[in-house]
Amino acid sequence: MTLKYELKRLDLQHPWTIARGTSNSKENVFLSLEKDGIVGFGEAAPNVRYKETAESTMAVFEQARPVIEASDLRNFHDLNQKLRLLFPKAASATTAIDMAVLDWFCKSLNLPLYRYFGLNKANTPVTTYSIGIDEPDKIQQKVKEAGAFPILKIKLGLGDDEKMMASIRAVTNKPLRVDANEGWATREEALEKIKWLQTCGVEFVEQPMPASQLDDMAWVRERSPLPLLADESVMSTSDIPTLARAFDGINIKLMKAGGILESLKMIWLAKSLGMQVMLGCMVESSLAISAAASLSPLVDYADLDGNLLISNDPFTGVQVEAGRLRLSEKPGVGAELL
Ligand code: MG
Repeated sequence: MTLKYELKRLDLQHPWTIARGTSNSKENVFLSLEKDGIVGFGEAAPNVRYKETAESTMAVFEQARPVIEASDLRNFHDLNQKLRLLFPKAASATTAIDMAVLDWFCKSLNLPLYRYFGLNKANTPVTTYSIGIDEPDKIQQKVKEAGAFPILKIKLGLGDDEKMMASIRAVTNKPLRVDANEGWATREEALEKIKWLQTCGVEFVEQPMPASQLDDMAWVRERSPLPLLADESVMSTSDIPTLARAFDGINIKLMKAGGILESLKMIWLAKSLGMQVMLGCMVESSLAISAAASLSPLVDYADLDGNLLISNDPFTGVQVEAGRLRLSEKPGVGAELL
């Protein structure tokens, strides 16, 4: 078995601003596993919010190397459990490994990942296109560039939410979804914003308040006219039961969960608790987006646009047609290195 990894800088088409800060590019780490002439690819999108860097991710790959090399990749549940116990704080690194192993395994069976899970590609959802925080003229330009997408996701929570919304509503009547990225500090402020957003044609609001303020979130949810989805509050399966009283749904991201297998578990647990499920992403190439999209026939909402925000995507994979995800028939996670 050959395990290699490489850091690649993904350039953003526009500077990306959310409530936490601004970036012009993102450094993701790409992993490849070669065995029996088959290559499986994985991607890690390390996130400062979760204390991850490209360096810490590569260090995890080095530490995991002997464990992976000693494993039979066909027994991937064993390897997944081992790595999650060894590296509980390195979700994006374990995601890359999980992705590469499943890509390799499904390629060895000549099956697309979604078929391996028995999912119906006719049930993929529409994906939103995300508009970061910006000046009104830039916002309006981004809304125009998103012309093919029937639903937009708007980032708020950095101060002038009213100005952001007014500049968007000046150029589009599309349904909107809002992500505050923990930006509203008090429960009263959050509730007031949510009531106002309902009058602006917003379908739901993601992570209104900091993840640490769960009791405040429960208070807001009791009074909220819109569904509320957790993002920063939820990493993996064990977080979900305590969130059910404070949120109507969760935003699952492979890079938070620690992989495809964990994300699948999260989907079933959230559904069994009566919660809605969205599949989201970080800034990621078409490799990780295609892996996430493979699970999308199971979920209510998708926000899988990370690959569309970059100008130098090293992979090609899942496509978007009139806003809907169209899965590849290629074996594995459905992405090819360009
Ligand atoms: Mg979010």
